[in-house]
Amino acid sequence: MNTTGKAPILGLVLPCFNEEDILPATAGRLEAKLRQLADDGLVSAESRIYFVDDGSADRTWQLIQELCSRSSSFAGIKLSRNYGQQYALYAGLMEATGDALITLDADLQDDIDVIDDMLASFGRGNEIVYGVRANRESDTFFKRYTAKIHYGLLSGMGVATVHNHADFRLLSRRAVEFLGEYREVNLYLRGIVPLLGLPSDQVFYTRSERLAGDTKYSLGRMLGLSLQGLTSFSIVPLRVISVLGLVVFCIALGLGGWALYAAVWGAGTVPGWASTVIPIYLLGGLQLLAIGVAGEYIGKTFMEAKGRPLYQVERRLGMNE
Ligand code: UDP
Ligand code: MG
Repeated sequence: MNTTGKAPILGLVLPCFNEEDILPATAGRLEAKLRQLADDGLVSAESRIYFVDDGSADRTWQLIQELCSRSSSFAGIKLSRNYGQQYALYAGLMEATGDALITLDADLQDDIDVIDDMLASFGRGNEIVYGVRANRESDTFFKRYTAKIHYGLLSGMGVATVHNHADFRLLSRRAVEFLGEYREVNLYLRGIVPLLGLPSDQVFYTRSERLAGDTKYSLGRMLGLSLQGLTSFSIVPLRVISVLGLVVFCIALGLGGWALYAAVWGAGTVPGWASTVIPIYLLGGLQLLAIGVAGEYIGKTFMEAKGRPLYQVERRLGMNE
């Protein structure tokens, strides 16, 4: 129950990219879940499931069309091309209506029974409810450790994120409106949502394995998202290179002093090949690194300066006008 005493209208938002294998099963399970929640009086009967087709090349959009023509519980948003999960989520949040919106993956790896806990927390006045994984047992060894490094780096650089939370979360209407004011092209929702600053809460769940189909996140995409998170929310890497530059400069100064001393008083060895060549490689590498890090941020500024739309909708189905 929300503050007005009426059951809130819930919107479930699912990004879908080539999910034809799993979409029918997902739709069936979510429809049943929504009906059960409505029967229990926890959500309004006007609640809906929004599928955002992120430029799929398979039958995903056809399946969404069939669902929408079968029941008014379903709505479809077709993006004009593949924008990426973060943008598909953002598009769904901006397009969907309802008092509370929950985003979740189309493969239902996130436990949908936790939605009850999320709604209960929302009823207590929390406007952001994070779904947090109690453990990472369903992950591969590799994914578990890369995730650890990613979150460690983020918090080390002063970016507030919720550990072991992906994009399974509830947002109130107000939180969604706040989010809509963030117009950044370099979108990393896990970094932005904690910045909204509304009352928030966490609920815990166990993530299962994908029921069908393959992960849409290749290693390259995963690294891309991680880098996005790091460089969109922190300028620490820029500082690190300044400090590194200063340290190398001081060492060079010290070595220079030592070389002068050795030349004048003839102590020790004559400075030779190693002391000439090593610094060349060292400084060359350091300079390239520094330029690369600075370039990463210049690239971001470039993309932001263009101010391109975050997403464009080709078709809408079953939406409130
Ligand atoms: N997804 C998307 N656009 C993309 C890649 C993925 O909308 O370009 C969706 C995908 O359909 C799924 C969710 O994002 O609903 C998470 O993807 P996936 O399950 O492949 O990621 P994983 O769980 O393996 O991290
Ligand atoms: Mg998945």
